[in-house]
Amino acid sequence: MDFLKGWAHMTTVSELVGAARAAERAVLTEEESKRLLREAGIPVTETRLAASRRAAQATAKELGFPVVLKLASPDITHKSDVGGVRLSLKSASEVGKAYDEILASAREKAPRARIQGVTVQPMAPPGVEVIAGMSKDPQFGPVLMFGLGGVAVEVLKDVAFRIVPLTRRDAAQMIREIKSYPLLTGFRSIPPVDLKALEEILLRLSELADATPELAEIDLNPIVATQSGAVAVDARVVLEPVKEG
Ligand code: ADP
Ligand code: MG
Repeated sequence: MDFLKGWAHMTTVSELVGAARAAERAVLTEEESKRLLREAGIPVTETRLAASRRAAQATAKELGFPVVLKLASPDITHKSDVGGVRLSLKSASEVGKAYDEILASAREKAPRARIQGVTVQPMAPPGVEVIAGMSKDPQFGPVLMFGLGGVAVEVLKDVAFRIVPLTRRDAAQMIREIKSYPLLTGFRSIPPVDLKALEEILLRLSELADATPELAEIDLNPIVATQSGAVAVDARVVLEPVKEG
């Protein structure tokens, strides 16, 4: 775990970028990505690394149940694909069992991956899952994307795009122009979500992308939106390749 030594005290965006570059890693881990995003004013679930079963249990007790355990590996970004996500764990014994199962599954499905242990994080309250992201267009530079999570994005491609920098009006319009927008304003048993909180996230993402040209890609997938806020429960940040000379 040498590649992570001393990272706990690093808080600024440029320090995180610099440390990843020094380790020749282009993709930040979930924990690093969330630390960077938190620094940029974007709400994320508290996410702590635990390198052993006992550490995971102790951290879960500190955070309070229920918690989520996820595989922590710099080589794996789609954690569910390798059995690496366990939700709603209600006790230390459930956490211990989940820890063993996640590591066994990862070792079987991705035997070459470096494994740091797990991250422990609180369960977000139930809400509507949306996604937001930044990518770079060769012509327009940083572009933000917003959509509903799950099938809405993967199958229906129901997403909106805007070029950075966004105005508050852009952020508001982006959210309102997706076809699934009615699902955000209260539908059947689903309460309306905090649209202002989503607008804030898009504005902070725009500022972050504008201020940090080293970032190639940001994925907040998903953000859980409720009546009184929105929080990213998964995040991935990718760095631009280092320019020579
Ligand atoms: P993956 O790497 O597979 O995308 P995620 O971290 O996105 O893994 O977790 C998979 C799913 O589990 C998410 O899409 C979300 O529905 C749920 N989830 C993840 N973290 C949390 C959390 N802290 N609270 C509540 N639900 C979560
Ligand atoms: Mg995800």
